[in-house]
Amino acid sequence: MNKGVKALYPFDKETSMPIDATLPYDETNIFARILRGEIPSKRVYEDDYVLAFHDINAQAPVHILVIPKGAYVSWDDFSARGSDEEIAGFVRAVGKVARDAGLVAPGYRLLANVGAHGGQEVPHLHVHLFGGQGLGPMLAR
Ligand code: 5GP
Repeated sequence: MNKGVKALYPFDKETSMPIDATLPYDETNIFARILRGEIPSKRVYEDDYVLAFHDINAQAPVHILVIPKGAYVSWDDFSARGSDEEIAGFVRAVGKVARDAGLVAPGYRLLANVGAHGGQEVPHLHVHLFGGQGLGPMLAR
């Protein structure tokens, strides 16, 4: 195991408050507020479909969150309700952000937590992009 990397999201029942991904979209969630510019973020990319910004609590040397601009609770919600245009825009943007961050040659990891078992804490779809060093095993044990 690569000891330089924190375990990626061990589910901690004491401190984590996972969301119910089956609930309707909550316009007051923190990423909705970031999208509206009410809360600052360290933005790395933006286009018609997505916003990408650094995670406030980085778990790897590079830890970027990519979110759709549309109001989607989770990967489940987005994959069911997102338009083909939004989904294509999102997938292409995630690839571009990783490419622009120089992560393709060394490699990187994508992660999208959904609901309680996934440990999802923010009810607006986000893909975590991790890189910058070897990331260890796929799941914390
Ligand atoms: P989840 O557990 O829902 O997959 O991940 C939520 C992520 O959002 C966490 O990695 C957490 O550090 C990040 N996060 C929570 N609040 C903020 C914030 O206000 N700004 C930024 N940039 N990241 C946040």
